[in-house]
Amino acid sequence: VFIAFEGGEGAGKTTQARLAAIWLRDHGYDVITTHEPGATKIGMRLRAMLLDRDTTGLSDRGETLLYAADRADHVANVIKPAMDRGAIVVSDRYVDSSLAYQGFGRRQAVEDIARVNAWATGGLVPDLTVLLEIPPQAGLNRLSAPADRIESESQDFHERVRAGFRALAEADPDRYLILDASRPQNEITREIQYRIHEILPD
Ligand code: C5P
Ligand code: MG
Repeated sequence: VFIAFEGGEGAGKTTQARLAAIWLRDHGYDVITTHEPGATKIGMRLRAMLLDRDTTGLSDRGETLLYAADRADHVANVIKPAMDRGAIVVSDRYVDSSLAYQGFGRRQAVEDIARVNAWATGGLVPDLTVLLEIPPQAGLNRLSAPADRIESESQDFHERVRAGFRALAEADPDRYLILDASRPQNEITREIQYRIHEILPD
């Protein structure tokens, strides 16, 4: 079972992914939590390059490919091995982040990014994707340590990213759980638990 958490900056993905993993472990499941970009050795180097794009002048296509390279390595070395041994994988970001940021955000063709990523991941799609929805400004305000984040992007960029995530989720309601991230944290946690419960094998 593979569960991804998606959403903009400061939506609470990391927190909710962790809480979901703790809950699953309490119920006896073998669970790993992971994240993008930067979950592997090479991924940490790629993450540093990606977050430094303003000083290196990394191109938009280059950025897309580096995210895809990070993801390919993530799937091959972390996600697939864990799934193969029967563990539940909970990831903070996955392919939809590239569709939203590099596609909708940077205005690159979403179908091209989907194709590159389908190849990079060998077609691995999450069983459930939780989208935590928050207005960009509210999310950015929540960040305590924005140092390595691209909060320098324009308001418009973040609005496009948000709309992109929404469009992806609304197009496939069976795979997505869309939640208003401004609701109380414990309510969000509970809704995620209900939905995960539905997709678990007994
Ligand atoms: O989720 P996390 O804060 O670790 O992401 C690091 C930065 O990378 C964020 O600023 C996020 O907006 C950006 N990012 C991106 N494109 C992706 C994934 C993350 O621009 N596909
Ligand atoms: Mg986070």
